[in-house]
Amino acid sequence: MKITFLGAARTVTGSCYLLEHNGCKFLVDCGMFQGNKALKNNNYVDFPFNPGDIDFVLLTHAHIDHSGLLPKLYKNGFKNPIYTSTASVALLEIMLPDSGYIQEQEVERKNRKLMRAGEHMLEPIYTAEDALATVPLCKGVRYGEEFSPAEGIKVVLQDAGHIFGSAMLEIFYEENGVQRKLVFTGDLGRKDQAIVRDPYPMQSADYMVMESTYGNRNHGGDAEKEIPIFAEVITKTVRRGGNVIIPAFAVDRTQDILYLLNEMQLNKMIPECTVYVDSPLAIKATEIFSRFPDYYDRMTAKLFKEEGRPPFVLKNLVYTASAAESQQLNSIKSGAIIISASGMADAGRIKHHLKHNLWRKECSVLFFGYQVEGTLGRRLIEGEKQVTIHGEEVEVKAEIYNMEGFSAHADHDEMLEWLHGFKHMPGRMFMTHGEEESTVSWAAEISEKFGVNAIAPEHGYCFDLATDAAGEAVVHPASIVHPEAATAAADAASDTARTLDAELLLEINADIQRVMASRDVDKLIRLRDYLRRIR
Ligand SMILES: [Zn+2]
Ligand SMILES: [Zn+2]
Repeated sequence: MKITFLGAARTVTGSCYLLEHNGCKFLVDCGMFQGNKALKNNNYVDFPFNPGDIDFVLLTHAHIDHSGLLPKLYKNGFKNPIYTSTASVALLEIMLPDSGYIQEQEVERKNRKLMRAGEHMLEPIYTAEDALATVPLCKGVRYGEEFSPAEGIKVVLQDAGHIFGSAMLEIFYEENGVQRKLVFTGDLGRKDQAIVRDPYPMQSADYMVMESTYGNRNHGGDAEKEIPIFAEVITKTVRRGGNVIIPAFAVDRTQDILYLLNEMQLNKMIPECTVYVDSPLAIKATEIFSRFPDYYDRMTAKLFKEEGRPPFVLKNLVYTASAAESQQLNSIKSGAIIISASGMADAGRIKHHLKHNLWRKECSVLFFGYQVEGTLGRRLIEGEKQVTIHGEEVEVKAEIYNMEGFSAHADHDEMLEWLHGFKHMPGRMFMTHGEEESTVSWAAEISEKFGVNAIAPEHGYCFDLATDAAGEAVVHPASIVHPEAATAAADAASDTARTLDAELLLEINADIQRVMASRDVDKLIRLRDYLRRIR
């Protein structure tokens, strides 16, 4: 078995591995690069293999940094099966077209600038239509169920406990008459997360490709300890007549927060208040989560049985899908919990909610995810007292909280604990999906602690597992620019882009409303004529 590292090599995003065995070629993940411009440019480069030659794809989970280039693969000639968990298939149905739509919007924006400058126009990496056409290739598989995607290769998906439907892969094959097992951890989750189960306790492997997002650090907080703080913030805020604003990623994080709110309501830890989910993608994702009770952990399944509804579909939950409904939330002065995207507050509907609530000292804003440098979220958690939203200066008087304990990735100590569960440690390990420093130090630490050969491969690096020797690099590493300081916001970046168009729609809508409200006939005629011209 030969393995070539084509993404997430000394960086977090773009997970993609090419595997070759007895004339069979397949990929593990086909993810999008996210973060800075240099990284994103990789998405536009041709694949260093012919997509038509790939026999199948094994997909660990639906996050865009693992699945986001599947439609590009399809567009370039791949028409074979993509195996992943059944829950991931359902998530891909909404996430891939959404990603295609973002590509179209991004390119449209860029092209407007290029056109003005008289430059060549760009083409999107793929469109929503390409993405929709890719979805039927996805085949849902159950955890623990062995299947054979090609002769001589058997695969089992195990629960990775990272996000809904996430899997680690066990790949069994024979080499020189010996049975071998290659494991991909995918993104490794952690114990006691809401909704999803704990990561599968893997006990043996001959070779393993392991993630290293937190290879050199631990999480800043503790979810268990932060739940009472969360409840107290809501109680205080509602009592003093304010709203609670929560910027959150649409898939998984929003549902986790809803689960916590339900728990706090049932235990009477918080007063009665209405919970609004203001993000079309989050609404669709919540509906998908409801359809797959097989994927819940024991507690979530128990609550589902007792309550007759999934514990993240609250009784007092209001979905606001349309832009008009979203805007109506701006008039609510107190007693509302508003969850909206993006999670880093730098785009999307959440910006409107912040504009209307940040300046009020009775309100609170809670962040639940890593905030990348330069984003509005980061500025707020760092205590800025004045921010600009939609060109307007807004004073920050609301209370700002950063709940650091909630992460879908195992941290350094949790990964170590998971590795200690092995009875037969892999002799050869490859550390990927982490920033350079994190991956390299994680590989060195594991080599020393467990006496295994662990390395942090570079982009394009090729390794023959049969001979335990490096092959010729497929892509010269120098052609790939590594991020200077691209942070571990892998799963977050797409959320930012996704909501840009929604933001634009809201802005246009607000402007039109303003002109209408002015009842200035002259202006109204000009607006009508302009709209007719561009229609
Ligand atoms: Zn992930
Ligand atoms: Zn990832």
